[in-house]
Amino acid sequence: MKAIQYLGANKIEVCDIEMPKVPEGFALVKVSHAGICGTDLNIYAGTHPRAKAPLVMGHEFSGVVENDTPYMKKGTRVTVYPLISCGACEPCRSGNGHVCNTLGLYGIDTDGAMAEYAAVPADQLIAIPDEMSFQTGALLEPIAVAVHALRETGFTSGDNALVFGCGTIGLCVALTLRLFGARDILLAETDPARIALAKSLGFDVADPSQENLAELVSNRTNGNGFDRVYDCAGVQAVAETLLDMVRVKGQIVIVASYKKPPAMPFFKGMAKEVSIHFVRVYRKKDFEIAAQIVVREPLFDKIITHILPADKAQEGFDLLFQKGSGAVKVMFAF
Ligand SMILES: [Zn+2]
Ligand SMILES: [Zn+2]
Repeated sequence: MKAIQYLGANKIEVCDIEMPKVPEGFALVKVSHAGICGTDLNIYAGTHPRAKAPLVMGHEFSGVVENDTPYMKKGTRVTVYPLISCGACEPCRSGNGHVCNTLGLYGIDTDGAMAEYAAVPADQLIAIPDEMSFQTGALLEPIAVAVHALRETGFTSGDNALVFGCGTIGLCVALTLRLFGARDILLAETDPARIALAKSLGFDVADPSQENLAELVSNRTNGNGFDRVYDCAGVQAVAETLLDMVRVKGQIVIVASYKKPPAMPFFKGMAKEVSIHFVRVYRKKDFEIAAQIVVREPLFDKIITHILPADKAQEGFDLLFQKGSGAVKVMFAF
């Protein structure tokens, strides 16, 4: 079968490889669409600590089940909850398998879905409704990240919120905030193409490289700062301003994965008694909620900026490394 394989730092290739083995309890999925995630960019760059070449990347995808399973019939349109939890450690046994002590993912720790077929545990399939396109189905994973970021940290409707970063995750968080009843939402981003996309989704966007964000936030919140500040950027320049943007007793949620340890002026957090909450991936429930809310918000689809045939794998990755390409979510069609 055709697959996009990671072969070593900065090296991917469209290869012909063997079909995946389908162990007892697994389902074979004929892949329709698979998205490139920030994690895949780290793998490509050779900087992901766990991914080992050769590897079929891809953990956000949709397709059709090829064999009958105890849960679903052959032909069901699905996406997949891609976590690999051990089931035995304390977090797993206490209902927190998404932060398993040895958490892995399909497409990172073992072969994933940038291929014509993928084998995954049958009980991790999530059916997608007939009216949902396959590309939207492949977007449910990042939407589940957003749902988790809100539900896991106690977001309450009526809160106001600032979101740093208008990549896939930032935009998914912003749209989910709106659906969950945020009173006021402001986005911060410096890339002009991403600013334009965020505005086309109906959001106010500030560009901290052009305007004084602290002043703008102060004016917008009567000098108080935001109830919730979501960091979907993960860079030093953002880390050092997070505590200026949040209100006294407010909450900062770190959704982004920091590649380098940031410095933060902790005294400012102390002065405001701010809480900082980290989140990781999603629960299966978040995925199911994502599948339901996406039907009510067609704007999620605008986050998908490029759909390329699998043969253009290199082009897909290049788009995301090029500044100003306007690429946000790039998907491959199989
Ligand atoms: Zn992802
Ligand atoms: Zn575990």
